[in-house]
Amino acid sequence: MKAGDTSTEGTAFHAVDIIRTKRDGRELSDAQIDWVIAAYTAGEVADEQMSALAMAIVFRGLNGSELDRWTRAMINSGERLDFSSLEKPTVDKHSTGGVGDKITLPLAPLVAACGVAVPQLAGRGLGHTGGTLDKMESIPGWRSSLATEEMLRQLADIGVVICAPGPGLVPADKKLYALRDVTGTVESIPLLASSIMSKKIAEGAAALVLDVKVGSGAFMKTSESARELAQTMVDLGRAEGMTTAALLTDMSVPLGRTAGNALEVAESIEVLAGGGPADVVELTVALAREMVAAVGRDDHDPADLLASGAAMDIWRSMISAQGGDPDAPLPSAHETEVITAEQDGFLQSLDALGVGEAAWRLGAGRARKEHAVQPGAGVVLHAKPGMRIHVGQPLFTLHTDTPERFGRAREAIEGAYNIGNTAPEERPLILDRIV
Ligand code: URA
Repeated sequence: MKAGDTSTEGTAFHAVDIIRTKRDGRELSDAQIDWVIAAYTAGEVADEQMSALAMAIVFRGLNGSELDRWTRAMINSGERLDFSSLEKPTVDKHSTGGVGDKITLPLAPLVAACGVAVPQLAGRGLGHTGGTLDKMESIPGWRSSLATEEMLRQLADIGVVICAPGPGLVPADKKLYALRDVTGTVESIPLLASSIMSKKIAEGAAALVLDVKVGSGAFMKTSESARELAQTMVDLGRAEGMTTAALLTDMSVPLGRTAGNALEVAESIEVLAGGGPADVVELTVALAREMVAAVGRDDHDPADLLASGAAMDIWRSMISAQGGDPDAPLPSAHETEVITAEQDGFLQSLDALGVGEAAWRLGAGRARKEHAVQPGAGVVLHAKPGMRIHVGQPLFTLHTDTPERFGRAREAIEGAYNIGNTAPEERPLILDRIV
C-alpha cells in the first residue's frame, strides 16, 4: 500500500491515484469512478480522501461521460423505488432551494388533483434555505417517515405523499453531501447535479420538473451558472430515460410573504384556499402545468383545480393519512418584534439571502444537521419590492421563541432592503424554460 493510502491491499485502485488524476485535470475511467463511490460508501475511502477528490472536482470539473458514470455509481450505491404497480403516471419536482420556497406544499396536492401520482421525497433545511420536511413537521402530528408499502398505498389512494427518503436511497449521497457541506465543495455544477439527480432517478418517477433558482438566495448566483446547472440536470435525467424539464426562476427576492416553517405552511394553505401571494400562485401553477404536461395529463388546467378547492381536499387527506390534524392550530412563536420604515418612498430591493439569514438566526433553520428548528420562528414580510412605503409603516415582523435572537436577526434584515424615491423595474419570476 502507498503512503497515505487507506485502500485495502489487493483492490484494483488506490484513492490517492484517483485524487491525483483529477487534481491534474485528467479524465477518470468508468472503473475508477465505480470503485471510488462504492469504496467511499463502504467506508474504505476516508473522508479526507473524498474531500480532496471533491475539491479537485470543484476546480477541474467532470466531463459529460464522467458525470453520467458518477451519477450512475451514486444511484447504484443503494436501492431504486418502483412505482410500476400504480395505475397513474408518476411525476416528481425538485427545487434547488431558496428563501420562502414553500411551493411543494400547494403544488404536490394540486398535481395529484390533476390525476397524476406525486411521490415527493423531501429534505430538511440547512443554512439560510428552508427544507420541506421542517415546514411539514410544524403541522401537529404529521409524520415524515413512511415505509415503502405505506408510501405506495397512499399514492394509490390519495395520489400524493411528501416524506423523508429511506436510508437505502443513494447512501453515497448521504455521506458525500454531508462532507461537501463542511468542506466548501457544495457549489460545483457536477457535484450538485449528480447529488440531486442520483436521488431523483433512484426515486423512480416517470418524469421530473426542476425549479432551478437563480439569485442571492440560491446556490447559483448568476443566470449563466443556473442555466448550466439546469441543462446538466435535464441531460442527466434524459440519459436515464426520465422525461425532464426545468424552469429557471428568480430567487433574488424571497418567495411570498413568509420565511419560516409554520408561517410558510399557513401561507401555503392560503394558496390552496384560492388566495395567497401572487408570486407563490404563479410559480405553483407554472410548475403544475409543466408536471402534468410531462406525463400527458394536461386535459385540466391546474389553475382551475386550485380555484375549485380540489387541491385543498387532497392536502387535507394527505395530512390526515400521515397522522397530522389539518384543522389543528399551527405553532406560533412566543415573541414578535416589528421593524418599521424610517422614510417614505418605494421598497426598491429586498434581498433573499438577508431575509433567509434573519429567519435562520431567529431559529427557523439549523446550523448543523442535528440541531432542532423552532416551528414558529421566521419573518413575515409586509412589503415587497415596488410597494409604496410610508414612514412608520411595518415592513417586517420577526418571530422567535428566544428573544435574545432578535438583535442578530435585525442586523441581517436591516442590510437586506433599500427604500428610494422611484419604483424599481419589475422583474419576471420565471426567467427561462430548459428542455
Ligand atoms: N441539494 C442536494 O440534494 N444536493 C446538493 O448537492 C445540494 C442541494
